[in-house]
Amino acid sequence: MSLASQTIKGLQTLLEKKEIQPKEIIDSVAEAAAVRDGAIGGYLGLDQELAHRDAEEVSGGVLAGIPIGIKDLLNVKGQPCGCASKILSNYIAPYDATSIAKLRASGGVPFGRANMDEFAMGSSNENSSIKPVHNPWDLERIPGGSSGGSAAIVAADEAIAALGSDTGGSIRQPAAFCGCVGLKPTYGRVSRFGLTAFASSLDQIGPLTKTVEDAAILLGAISGGDTNDSTCLDESVPDYVADLQGDIKGMKLGMPKEFFGEGIDPAIRASVEEAAKQFESLGAEIVEVSLPHTEQAVAVYYIIATAEASANLARFDGVRYGYRAPDAENLGEQYAKSRAQGFGNEVKLRILLGTYVLSSGYYDAYYLRAQKLRTLIRQDFTSAFETVDAIIGPVSPIAPFKIGENASDPLAMYLADIYTISANLAGICGLSLPCGYMTPSDGQRELPIGLQILGAPFDEGKVLKLGHNFEQSTEWHQRRPSLG
Ligand code: GLN
Repeated sequence: MSLASQTIKGLQTLLEKKEIQPKEIIDSVAEAAAVRDGAIGGYLGLDQELAHRDAEEVSGGVLAGIPIGIKDLLNVKGQPCGCASKILSNYIAPYDATSIAKLRASGGVPFGRANMDEFAMGSSNENSSIKPVHNPWDLERIPGGSSGGSAAIVAADEAIAALGSDTGGSIRQPAAFCGCVGLKPTYGRVSRFGLTAFASSLDQIGPLTKTVEDAAILLGAISGGDTNDSTCLDESVPDYVADLQGDIKGMKLGMPKEFFGEGIDPAIRASVEEAAKQFESLGAEIVEVSLPHTEQAVAVYYIIATAEASANLARFDGVRYGYRAPDAENLGEQYAKSRAQGFGNEVKLRILLGTYVLSSGYYDAYYLRAQKLRTLIRQDFTSAFETVDAIIGPVSPIAPFKIGENASDPLAMYLADIYTISANLAGICGLSLPCGYMTPSDGQRELPIGLQILGAPFDEGKVLKLGHNFEQSTEWHQRRPSLG
């Protein structure tokens, strides 16, 4: 087994025994990327020499010398941070994001720029302005998004683990589509300082890994308070790895009836129902719960997220950052042309939508109502968590589709975010892990299916423990795509 296909945990053991050097891990990952990434497109760039230098400076920590792939919207000092956008194509990060600084403090080596949907807007990675990402299980298909690069490099053993960001499902959904583990932490668990903002009240940074245990290790490394982010909780971080120990007997898990209605692929429903039985056999109790405002979540999300994005992306004006249109005759034209030429179509669509819902005359009808509904969505979860320890359900109602297949129908793609976005609106945590495989009617290759475990705010420890118990009692996480 190559070092690139190892887990963080596996490498920790080898490093502790001094059987390997960090340099060998970096070289193995770079070699895997050189062999496979031409077909997958998960990396936008990687600097092996820089990683060697960074690894030499490591003096210990839980990640001592282990390279971690970084989504292209997290600032790593001295490296490009383009958000897979033309408008930031020449931008070099002047500082480390807090999550990167914490990663380094644990000995981790930020390695490579993982491809993504431009400014994290999308569910398929087709919105990258550089190149699409191909799903390692079937190269004709999308890997999910927007952290599609992060998920694909982990699934294809071109990375040990990666960091992504989740505003409406962008860690959990690509993890589900690529057959790896993805965790969206509670809002406020991980500092957003140095994360290029999409929708600031929804964004969270989190790990994409090969096992639940690795997600616990990486979450522990990047979590914790930060004076640069006032929304980040300043409390001690639990030992998530220690929390994995023990069984889950007597835990009560809710299955929201709204997550199993119309529109879910029968194979996905069957796998998730099978997963529920598995939890029962591990001693958990399954009950039905209701999240009555699920149906409104997509509309609410696409109002709030676009409103926040339209404000956050105003800074990209051709003056302060990145691309500047060469042919402008005055300042107004410089703004307009730089943005028209620099942003891709999906980003422009979102800025227009967001500006519209915030404009006078429409603010009350859209933005204000969406905020009120957001409160009701959060209350749905608060009441559910009064009776259950966690909620289980599917991550996505659909399997990964073929690249290009849904490109002309943004609404269809937005609707497929139905099971992931309410967690961001409510600010709670959510884990995605493999729970089965299916062969779609229009394909020959098997595709992974993801199980979602949602937890109350700051209940990551419980969610990870449930995930770990499920994972260790099944074999889904051991499958690997055949990559030739
Ligand atoms: N698919 C959602 C969107 O397009 C979520 C993206 C995300 O979580 N960054 O906005």
